Amino acid sequence: MLMNSLVELDRAHLVHPVASYRGHEKAGVRVLKSGRGATVTDAGGHELIDGFAGLWCVNAGYGQERIVEAATRQLRELPYATGYFGLGSEPAIRLASELADRAPGDLNHVYFTLGGSDAVDSTVRFIRYYHHALGKPEKDQFISVMQGYHGSSTVGAGLTALPSFHAGFGLPLDWQHKIPSHYSYRNPVGSDPQAIIDASVAALRAKVEEIGAERVAAFYVEPIQGSGGVLVPPDGWLRAMRDTCRELDVLFVADEVITAFGRTGPLFACADDDVVPDLMTTAKGLTSGYCPMGAVFLSDRVYDTIADGAGAAAVGHGYTYSAHPVSAAVGLACLELYEGGLLDNGRRAGARLMAGLHAMADHPLVGEVRGRGLLAAVELVTDKARKTPLPAAADPARRVFDRAWDNGLVVRAFPTGVLGYAPPLCCTDKDIDRILERTRRTLDQTLEDPDVRSAL
Ligand code: PMP
Repeated sequence: MLMNSLVELDRAHLVHPVASYRGHEKAGVRVLKSGRGATVTDAGGHELIDGFAGLWCVNAGYGQERIVEAATRQLRELPYATGYFGLGSEPAIRLASELADRAPGDLNHVYFTLGGSDAVDSTVRFIRYYHHALGKPEKDQFISVMQGYHGSSTVGAGLTALPSFHAGFGLPLDWQHKIPSHYSYRNPVGSDPQAIIDASVAALRAKVEEIGAERVAAFYVEPIQGSGGVLVPPDGWLRAMRDTCRELDVLFVADEVITAFGRTGPLFACADDDVVPDLMTTAKGLTSGYCPMGAVFLSDRVYDTIADGAGAAAVGHGYTYSAHPVSAAVGLACLELYEGGLLDNGRRAGARLMAGLHAMADHPLVGEVRGRGLLAAVELVTDKARKTPLPAAADPARRVFDRAWDNGLVVRAFPTGVLGYAPPLCCTDKDIDRILERTRRTLDQTLEDPDVRSAL
């Protein structure tokens, strides 16, 4: 009874993110009720392994008492403090300092946001201001990568290269440009790592030349492309792009909203390729989704240029909830958990997940398995040699998602027929084995679908 009324209320009033509104009205909401470790339970009592950590964010897992206590303590003591008027709060100051200590290179200055989209937005504002301060206001063109995702604000959605974020929204904006992705499974230059790196470097050079180097402000990358289907670049790709940006006098922005905080192994994925960006964005694992928060990291050079450029004037950028003390207290607790064992456990669990997924490569529907740490994907095809995607007509992503759900697994099913995995770092061996076993069962069942069978 209660469930029915929730579904009705949701249908009538709650607008869902990135959904077909009419499709959702028809399907009805699935209400999640509780979570513990890597397991979530829906309102009907169905237990599932959360193979996607919410939206790749609950890195610490559900029900972490230390986080709950930190948030509760802060809510009682001081639920809010503005950063305006020169004010601040202890947790925010401490978190900025702890993060700066651990961030790559000289990313010593941290600006807190509410999530990833406004972190990306903030980088665009900081970068514009930086070039103005250097007397180069004409450096106002931005480049990102096809299949990339950089948020859902107008500016971030324009840097994003997913068609549904553009169509009907008048995006991208005319100062937003793209180069092809490294996507090695479907790259026209083939899958040789060096050929892919060379092609990406050449594409970036060509794009900068086309726009004019004196006009290009910055280049945005995800160390692993997440929402585009978990696309992992070859080793050395990130470094090559970083070096090219330095040579061309283009700021290099690493969007680590998904990849930071243990998702790929270390605290920051840039460390995997020994890269120091000029600016870096994070969110998600920063607070493990327990409270909204994002963070922009600025290098000494970027911060000092902005600070000196402004002089005594205020830099007009800030949110009511910048550096929110409760989110910051949660962030500090998360950091303690990561360094107190979760990073190590995540690396172990990641190795088990990747080995298990690779062992599924012989399944007739598995075209490619890829990933790093606890960030992985399985690309489904009906013809391995031709790399033919699943037949689109019957919405395979939805079908695979629903079936996995019934099998007790939450997995991301991208419309391109890619399954995405980003389970919590607290996963036990048993949790990982359940993810693998339920994935295989889901694939076996999908193989029996008449339209899939006839496409084989
Ligand atoms: N950048 C990247 C790389 C992301 O993956 C996301 C979210 N998936 C964002 C930015 C936007 O973050 P948010 O949804 O917290 O606004």
